[in-house]
Amino acid sequence: MKHYDAVVIGAGNGGIGTALALTTAGVKTLVLEKHNLPGGCATSFVRGRFEYDASLHAMFYDLLFKNVWENQFHITSPVTRVPDIITVAYTDTDGKNVYMDLPLGARELVMAIEKEIPGSAPVVQQYLGLCGEVLGAAKFAKSPDFTPELMQEKFPHFQMLMKMTAQEVFDYLEMPMNIQAIFNNLWWYLGPKIDEFPFFRYAPVVMMLVTMPTYFPNHACHGYLAEMETKIRENGGDVWLNTEVTEIVTKDGKVCGVKTNHGDYIETTQVIADVSPRIVFEDLIKEDSPKKQALLERQKDITENFSFTIVYLGLNKSAEELGIKAHHLFIADAADAKETYEASRGWEGPYCIGALCPNVTVKDFSPEGTCVLSLSVPMLGSALDGMTQEEYFKAKDEFAQKIIKTTGEHLGIDLFDCIEEISIATPATLSRYAGVRNGALGYARTFADIRKNEAATAQLNGGNPEEVYEGLSFVGQFAFGIGYQTNVTGIPVAMKVAQTIKGGN
Ligand SMILES: Cc1cc2nc3c(=O)[nH]c(=O)nc-3n(C[C@H](O)[C@H](O)[C@H](O)COP(=O)(O)OP(=O)(O)OC[C@H]3O[C@@H](n4cnc5c(N)ncnc54)[C@H](O)[C@@H]3O)c2cc1C
Repeated sequence: MKHYDAVVIGAGNGGIGTALALTTAGVKTLVLEKHNLPGGCATSFVRGRFEYDASLHAMFYDLLFKNVWENQFHITSPVTRVPDIITVAYTDTDGKNVYMDLPLGARELVMAIEKEIPGSAPVVQQYLGLCGEVLGAAKFAKSPDFTPELMQEKFPHFQMLMKMTAQEVFDYLEMPMNIQAIFNNLWWYLGPKIDEFPFFRYAPVVMMLVTMPTYFPNHACHGYLAEMETKIRENGGDVWLNTEVTEIVTKDGKVCGVKTNHGDYIETTQVIADVSPRIVFEDLIKEDSPKKQALLERQKDITENFSFTIVYLGLNKSAEELGIKAHHLFIADAADAKETYEASRGWEGPYCIGALCPNVTVKDFSPEGTCVLSLSVPMLGSALDGMTQEEYFKAKDEFAQKIIKTTGEHLGIDLFDCIEEISIATPATLSRYAGVRNGALGYARTFADIRKNEAATAQLNGGNPEEVYEGLSFVGQFAFGIGYQTNVTGIPVAMKVAQTIKGGN
C-alpha cells in the first residue's frame, strides 16, 4: 500500500501552491489531478496555431506573488508588466458610446475622468478617498499604534463604510450614473450584486486596479504551473495526472486515505482539498455521520458565485495592424451594474465584456502577424438551467456572434473578417472541466454569503474538533477568496499541516 504524509486533491492554482509549500517544508506529498496537466481554471489550451490562456487577465504580481514566488518558491517563469492603462468602453445614459483610457494612479485617474466628464473631479476624488480610507483603516487596525479613538480620528468614515454596500456609497456621494458607469466597468472583475456587495470588499479592488501595476505570464499560466509541478517533484513529492480522487476514506471522523479512479488506495492522515467542500461532503466522503451532516448543513445556504461565458478568438492579424492598444478592454452595454447583474442570469444582455489581448503585453504570445483576443462575460451558471441541448448550442452561438459584434463596434474593427480560430466555453464547460457545480468561481460575496463562508471556512480548517474531520483541510477558491491569489493563500494551511505531521499529532 502506498503511503504519503499528505495528499492534495486538485492541481489548480490553490492545490499546486499548497503542495509546493508542503514539499518545500519537507512533507512527503502526493498531488492527484484528474486532468492531463495542472492548472484547473488556470489552464491553457491550443487550437490550431494559437495557445489561449483560459482565464487569466492580469495578476497583481508585486503585491500578491513576487515575494513568495521569488524568495520561497524560486520561480523563474517570466512575467511582463501590463501597460499601465485600463480601457473602458460603455454606453452612457444618453446612449452615447464612450471609450476611455484610464491611466494608473489616483490623481491621473481623476484628471482623465474630468477631461471626459467636466465637473466630475470632486466626486471621483471623494470616492477614491473613501476607497483609500477602507484600505488605510484595515492596515491601521493591525498596527501597534491602534486605539479605537485614533482609528475614529484618522478614518472618520470607516465605521459607516463597513456597513455600506458598494451601491450605497455611490448613492451617498450622489455620484451621477455616467461616472458610476466607469467604475462599473471594473465590475467585471468581481461580478457581484452591487447593491448587496460590501463596500469594504469593493474598495480594495477598485484601489488596486487604479493604482497598482499588473503583470501577465510570458508563457501563459501553464509556464509557471509546469515549473511548480517540476519543483514539487524535485522536492521529493509526486504529481499523478489523469488521476481522479473518487473517495476520501474516513474512520471515526479521521482521514485515513484516498481512493482513485484507477483503483489505487493511498494511505495518508492529511488530505488537502482544492475542491469545493460541498463536493467533498456530498460525493467524496462516503461514510455518513452526524459530523458530515452538520458540515453539509453549514454549507447549504451559501450561494455559489458567478461563472463566465468566454469566446476565444485567434485572429489572423497582429494587434498593431488591428489597432488594439489595450491589454484589457472592459465593455459595458449598460451604465448601471445592477442591470448587468440581472442580465447575467441569462443570455440576452446587456453585457459586460472583459476583452483581453495578451499580445499587447507579450508581443509574441501568438505567431507573428496574429493575435489572441478572448472575450469573457460574467454569467450565472443557472442561465443554463432547463435548456435542451439544441437550445444550448443555439444560445451559445448567437451569444458569441453578439459579443464579437459588440466588441468589434467598440474597437472599430470588423472582427468577423479576421477570425482564424474560435472556441467557446460556458459555465457548463467550466463546470465539467474544473469539477465545480455551475462553473462557479467560489462562493458569492454578498454580506450574508461572506459571513456564512468565513464561518464555514474557519470551521472546516481547524474549528470545533467535535465537528471537523481530523486531517482534512481546504484551500482554493472555495476556501480563501477567488482568483489567482489562491496560488499563495494556501501556504498557512500547508504550514499548519507540516507542523501537525512533524509534531506527530
Ligand atoms: C474566464 C475567467 C477569467 C478569470 N480571470 C481572472 C483574473 O484575471 N484574475 C484572477 O485572479 N482570477 C481570475 N479568474 C479566477 C481564477 O481562475 C480562479 O479563481 C482560480 O484559478 C481557481 O483556482 P483553484 O485552485 O481554487 O480551483 P480550480 O482551478 O477549480 O482547481 C481545482 C482543481 O481540482 C481538480 N479536481 C477537482 N476534483 C477533483 C478530483 N476529484 N480528483 C482530482 N482532481 C480534481 C480540477 O481538475 C482542478 O484542476 C478567472 C476565471 C475565469 C473562469
